[in-house]
Amino acid sequence: MVFQPQPKILISRDEIAKAVDRLARDIERDYQGKQPLLISVLKGSFVFMADLIRQLDLPLELEFIRLSSYGAARESSGKVRVVQGAKTPIKDRDILVVEDIVDTGITISFLLDYLKKKKPASLKLCVLTDKPSRRRVPVPIDYLGFTVPNKFIVGYGLDFDERFRNLPHIYTLED
Ligand code: 5GP
Ligand code: MG
Repeated sequence: MVFQPQPKILISRDEIAKAVDRLARDIERDYQGKQPLLISVLKGSFVFMADLIRQLDLPLELEFIRLSSYGAARESSGKVRVVQGAKTPIKDRDILVVEDIVDTGITISFLLDYLKKKKPASLKLCVLTDKPSRRRVPVPIDYLGFTVPNKFIVGYGLDFDERFRNLPHIYTLED
C-alpha cells in the first residue's frame, strides 16, 4: 500500500504568529544596540525566519546554511555535514541561529560547534519547536516557540519527503 499521511493540526497559524511575536520581542530586547547576523538552517526554517525578521526592529543581516538532510527518512543518520556554508564572515559577529526543530539535537549541536570554531562575538539559538523526548545531545535553546510531543510534524516550512512545507499550520502526520 502507498503511504498516504493525513495531516492533523497541532499548532494553528494564530498560535504560531503569537509565538513569533513573543520571540521577536525577546530577541529585540536582548540585541539592542547590536547588528546580529541571523542564520537560517535550510530548508525547514525559511518560513519561520521570514516571519520572524519582519517582526524584528533591528539592523539585522541574514545568512542561510544548508546541512545534509534526512532525505525521505524520518530518523537522523547521525552524520551531519555543511552542504552550503555562510559567505558572510562569522568572526566577531553576534550570531543568532534560527532553526525549525530540535529533535535528537545532533544536527544543531553540529552546527553550533561548527560556528563556534569561527569565533563569533556571541552565539545564540532560536528554535520554533523542540522535541525534548528524543534528545541525545544537550542543546542550549535561548529562544523557544513550542515544545512538541514525540510525533513527526510538518507544515510551516517543515516537510515530509519535501512535501507539506507550504501548509500554514503545524500538523502531525497520522499514519
Ligand atoms: P535532530 O538532528 O535534532 O534529530 O534533527 C533535526 C532535523 O531533523 C530538523 O532540522 C529537521 O530537518 C528534522 N526533523 C526532526 N524531527 C522532525 C519532525 O518532526 N518533522 C520534520 N519535518 N522534520 C524533523
Ligand atoms: Mg532543520
